[in-house]
Amino acid sequence: MSYSGYIDTYYADTLGREKTYPTLTGQLNVDVCVVGGGFAGLNTALSLAERGKRVVVLESKRIGWGSSGRNAGFVAKGYAADEDYLLKKLGLEKARQIITLTQNARGLIRKRIDGYNIDCGPVIAGVMTASWRDNDAELKDYVKKSNDNFNTGFEFWPRDKVREHCKTDKYYGAVYSDADYQFHPLRYVHGLAAALESKTGRVFENSPVLKIVKNGTKNGSGWVAETKNGSVRCEHIVLAGSVYIDDLDKKLKNASFPVQTYIMVTKPMDDAALAGSINTRHAISDMRFCSDYYRRLDGGRVLWGGRVALWSKPKDIAGMMLDDMHKVYPQLKGVAEPEYSWAGLLAYAPHKMPQLGQIEPGYWYATGFGGHGISPTTVAGEVIASAIAGGDDTYKAFEPFGLGYAGGKMGRYVAQLVYWWWRARDHISVG
Ligand SMILES: Cc1cc2nc3c(=O)[nH]c(=O)nc-3n(C[C@H](O)[C@H](O)[C@H](O)COP(=O)(O)OP(=O)(O)OC[C@H]3O[C@@H](n4cnc5c(N)ncnc54)[C@H](O)[C@@H]3O)c2cc1C
Repeated sequence: MSYSGYIDTYYADTLGREKTYPTLTGQLNVDVCVVGGGFAGLNTALSLAERGKRVVVLESKRIGWGSSGRNAGFVAKGYAADEDYLLKKLGLEKARQIITLTQNARGLIRKRIDGYNIDCGPVIAGVMTASWRDNDAELKDYVKKSNDNFNTGFEFWPRDKVREHCKTDKYYGAVYSDADYQFHPLRYVHGLAAALESKTGRVFENSPVLKIVKNGTKNGSGWVAETKNGSVRCEHIVLAGSVYIDDLDKKLKNASFPVQTYIMVTKPMDDAALAGSINTRHAISDMRFCSDYYRRLDGGRVLWGGRVALWSKPKDIAGMMLDDMHKVYPQLKGVAEPEYSWAGLLAYAPHKMPQLGQIEPGYWYATGFGGHGISPTTVAGEVIASAIAGGDDTYKAFEPFGLGYAGGKMGRYVAQLVYWWWRARDHISVG
């Protein structure tokens, strides 16, 4: 843990002059209390404040301390579950509705960056997803289907073009999306909090919610969120604590399992080394089930992420990420040196879709965003806020992805086995 209360990451080190928020003391009365100061909580709170609601965010540690301040910073449409799954489960019309929400969210994030002057750049357009297999025809089909069904604006990139950007013989064709982009996620977290406080919202850090009491307000309705030194009385409460929710709500806790994933950031490299390897500022990932995801940062650094595990943190995250990088770019052996490395925890439901809605009237939840959460947490904020503030029922589009039991410890073991199985298949099919 660094002096600032964040774990030691590149993002915490480059946050700049951050604001800290007080610990809750005493009693507050508001319209809505949001538990959790990650993207899900802050987006919901800001969307509520934009609709004139008085809202408080209570965060256990620092805002963005969880996944939201540690991720790779790819802002993309869609969800952790893929388009084929959504088409099969929902049919074209409903799949289109639910995917369009993330396209709108991606636009809303840009609008907020500009409108609230959020300093989370450089914001760089373009995410390329490369194939490790020689399967251009398949990729072209996918691009056409996705563009036709969901108006995604994807482009097929042939091998020569891919290799202008990525000097590796591992990649063949790719799918490129110019509407997706990258940013500094922890600075965006702080921008959201500042925007919220410029309206009708307040943020409290180091204020874990220990208990939620029903019908606790003076007129016997609503909810009370209790912390060690204070409480918030409200008509609506929104739980957005991801995997850290613990026993605050057992149903929510048991409806997803925690998954770890890892990031390493290198020391600065010189221009020639980068031009001969990652010769692009677009964000890159690949199409293997267990993909790498990476991008160049300012000052010649590279952020490299990948792998997942369902228990026990590996001893040498940096070494593991470096091995993965060398597989794609052997020319960086002895050149790329790690400076930061960290793990983050994701909440995954077995269906890989966000879980959002109401457990009972006035008791809302937004969780399960998995490894693809920046746009979907913005969707969650918008649909929950418009339900609370205006009675809109768009959030019901997520009802098919409910709060089933995720299998407890056994569910995690099964998921780990599935991951290893897919990793072995990746290895067999592409080496
Ligand atoms: C390494 C990594 C890379 C990723 N890369 C990407 C990417 O490139 N693009 C993308 O879209 N997504 C990415 N993701 C996923 C994305 O970061 C998450 O889906 C998203 O941040 C989830 O937001 P959240 O608010 O649900 O959870 P979190 O950010 O984890 O926030 C939950 C917060 O709730 C607080 N909390 C919990 N319980 C309580 C309580 N009782 N009282 C008060 N506060 C509480 C916690 O302290 C925490 O701060 C990545 C994730 C990781 C870990």
